[in-house]
Amino acid sequence: MGPRIERNGLMEETKVTTGERPGGVEEVIEEMSSAELIDRDHAKVAGAIYRYTDIAFARGEGVYLYDFEGRKYLDFVGGIATMNVGHCHPAVVEAISDQARTLIHAASHVGYMRPYVELLEAVLAVAPGELANGKGLLMNSGSEAVEAAIKLARYVTNRSVIIAFMDGFHGRSMGALSLTASDALYRHRLAGLFVGVCHVPYPYCYRCPLKHESPETCGLACLNLVEKALQTIVPPDDLAGIMVEPIAGEGGYIVPPGGFLQGLREICDRHGALLIADEVQTGLGRTGKMFGVEHWGVVPDVACLAKPLGGGLPLGAMLAKAELVDAWPPGAQGSTFGGNPVACRAGLATLRVVQDEDLLSNAVRVGDYIQCRFREAQKALPIIGDVRGKGLMVAVELINPDGSPAREAIKGLIKEMSASGLALTKCGASSVRIAPPLIITEEQADFGVAAILDVLMRNQW
Ligand code: PMP
Repeated sequence: MGPRIERNGLMEETKVTTGERPGGVEEVIEEMSSAELIDRDHAKVAGAIYRYTDIAFARGEGVYLYDFEGRKYLDFVGGIATMNVGHCHPAVVEAISDQARTLIHAASHVGYMRPYVELLEAVLAVAPGELANGKGLLMNSGSEAVEAAIKLARYVTNRSVIIAFMDGFHGRSMGALSLTASDALYRHRLAGLFVGVCHVPYPYCYRCPLKHESPETCGLACLNLVEKALQTIVPPDDLAGIMVEPIAGEGGYIVPPGGFLQGLREICDRHGALLIADEVQTGLGRTGKMFGVEHWGVVPDVACLAKPLGGGLPLGAMLAKAELVDAWPPGAQGSTFGGNPVACRAGLATLRVVQDEDLLSNAVRVGDYIQCRFREAQKALPIIGDVRGKGLMVAVELINPDGSPAREAIKGLIKEMSASGLALTKCGASSVRIAPPLIITEEQADFGVAAILDVLMRNQW
């Protein structure tokens, strides 16, 4: 056995269980302790990186993560909605090793790389509607995919303004951050980001920004705000595009009401602007469809992908209708590492497993099951204000007795979950974010749901 440590009283809680269950301890696999790694990290890594948990990850397998003491955690985060086929899936590991033996990198500016083409072909083949006949290019992250989309929209329309949404998250690079509006903290001391961005409220029906009772009766008032922005702030002739997450991710897994995305499509069509779907978090199966927009039968002009696209390696993509991409001249966009062949192979292997094992159906089945369990528990737990989501993109919003976001409770919950063997994060102001690998079974999910409910029942924050 390697060194054992005590963090938050964790050893006392876990020493009785060995092996199978999350929260238990298996054989120690590393010389280093979690505490030692965390100390070294704190000495050298920028504190600007916020950590939800104090788990030090030594390895991962399937839906489980292990720390340096061999403690096992059920992964309810999936690398933030990234590890769709779980950790170290044999097909992904094999694809990475094979490509690493063949060609690690050569750069798309220099010539042509087979995995780059094959991944784009595979992703376009599952894209909705006309987008399937489109074209695209590969970048390194979600932010870069968004940057590419902003540049394409501005270039092809020769217009300068993008409408985006409060509660939306599109990345942290300066262009993408100009659209991000999920937390003012991200923009602190950066006022005067890109000009040409106009934010309007996202249809967060549980906390309607316009105080309407229900999306059934409000007449989609949020869409009227987009129209109002076009009358009062953005001359329609200046509108390059509308950037929207089909389900607002970081902002709280907020599902828009039916008709909203269709309405945006119609507004864009009316004004000759592009509808840009940021599918970085919703795309490639997370919501039970390949693209989140499919839930509403909407086809965007441009779509951004990342997170699961590279099977855990850094990769982003911008897809668009062919005539738009064709209008972009050579040199208008590029990246040294974008479309790295190893990342593309990992992404191809991941997509294949998602398709072959019908993980979309699993996402719907297990996601619905998780929602049902929390809805049932909600009857006896007033701290649960709302349960929402699609597929394995599920949020459980915690509220104070006065209905306000339970910010302290969510912090306390996430901290306590590590000790119970669950890796968990939040989204929005006070929502539990559940985004496990799409391979998770109901039985595995049960452990996570029970662990969360147990802490919610035991605690008063
Ligand atoms: N768009 C959305 C919808 C996201 O969820 C994220 C990441 N959370 C991004 C863009 C930015 O992606 P990245 O962190 O890879 O730059």
